[in-house]
Amino acid sequence: MSEPLAAEAAALDAADPLRGKRAEFVLEGDGGEGAEVVYLDGNSLGALPRAVPGRVADVVAREWGRLRVRSWTESGWWTAPERVGDRIGRLVGAGPGQVVAGDSTSVNVFKAVVAAIRLAGQDGHGRDEVLVDAATFPTDGYLARSAARMTGCRIRAADAADIADAAGPRTAVALVNHVDYRTGRLNDLPATTAALHAAGARVVWDLCHSAGALPVGLDAHGVDLAVGCTYKYLNGGPGSPAFLHVRRDLQPRFDSPLPGWNSHADPFGMSPDYVPADGAPRGRVGTPDILSLLALDAALDVWDGVDPTAVRAKSLALTDFFLRCVRTYVPAGRVESLTPDAHDRRGSQVSLRCVPDAEAVMAELVRRGVVGDFRPPDVLRFGFTPLYTRFADAERAARVLAGVLGR
Ligand SMILES: *Cc1c(COP(=O)(O)O)cnc(C)c1O
Repeated sequence: MSEPLAAEAAALDAADPLRGKRAEFVLEGDGGEGAEVVYLDGNSLGALPRAVPGRVADVVAREWGRLRVRSWTESGWWTAPERVGDRIGRLVGAGPGQVVAGDSTSVNVFKAVVAAIRLAGQDGHGRDEVLVDAATFPTDGYLARSAARMTGCRIRAADAADIADAAGPRTAVALVNHVDYRTGRLNDLPATTAALHAAGARVVWDLCHSAGALPVGLDAHGVDLAVGCTYKYLNGGPGSPAFLHVRRDLQPRFDSPLPGWNSHADPFGMSPDYVPADGAPRGRVGTPDILSLLALDAALDVWDGVDPTAVRAKSLALTDFFLRCVRTYVPAGRVESLTPDAHDRRGSQVSLRCVPDAEAVMAELVRRGVVGDFRPPDVLRFGFTPLYTRFADAERAARVLAGVLGR
């Protein structure tokens, strides 16, 4: 029964224009008993690009070990946040000088939301409401609430699909997740951004599950502010620096709530008075985490010459194929896809509701060498990373899932 889909997977892999990319990642082991693992958790922690260990070893031994403090200038450490930011910018459709790498997504959410509230204050229209995606990844909600509390705003939750309709004359900013981390639903960034702007509000997009998974088009859609992490589809490594995007024309008015010395116009002037730098560096705070930042820099090499449009095409083909395999192999009614079938509403993951035993099912899948993850209360999450996931992986994952569910 499984043979036609396995054969189809082999044909799809053979015809895949990105198939050569997989060799640039470390994906050997640990599937237990010598088996190769099917890794479908790149939306939680991307796999290790082969170039990273050598680069990190060089940064440690030569740049830190021998050049020491000279590396801030001679090895380009000081300007690395902007240089790496521009590399990320290309992948999310932002022209140079608008993205800075650093801090965590959580910290960048705080900077972006407070800065957006302050922009509204500068505009002087008495806007004092923050809208937040009702299904948001929790950290965004916590930080938005704190930002609202600190600035005297009220906060209101709204479904991402109609958050623009919820915006009124008091709305300063809406914070929206581009892809819902739990269901894999892709929210409509172009239409939502345009509608929020028409309502006179700013928008902050959280791109954690779209950066590196699909073309975002920040410039094309005039997005005000955006944040995202780099350890998911960008494979930067555990806890790698996040990024902050501030649209070029808003940069002169970007008033950071965390104005550290790294964002000063003259950081080495050591002045007691704060004067913000121009451009993307204004989003910085303190000394960058150089080891993680340069591991990320090396990890981004896998994107050289890769068109995000090709990545998106493969992502949709992979998730379509996985859903088809699941529907073929898994007994009817045992799982239900929470991920929209419509391509324009789907991120790069498939979430299957599995009642009542999702957590145990995922544990067994992992034991059998298929690594996805579990999200409470009942969701099996499978992430598809087009640079290294094969159609054969999708087929095997669905087949093993059917086995676990007792076909
Ligand atoms: C993964 C994720 C985060 C993570 O934030 P950290 O500060 O890196 O822990 C935030 N928001 C969303 C939507 C995420 O998916």
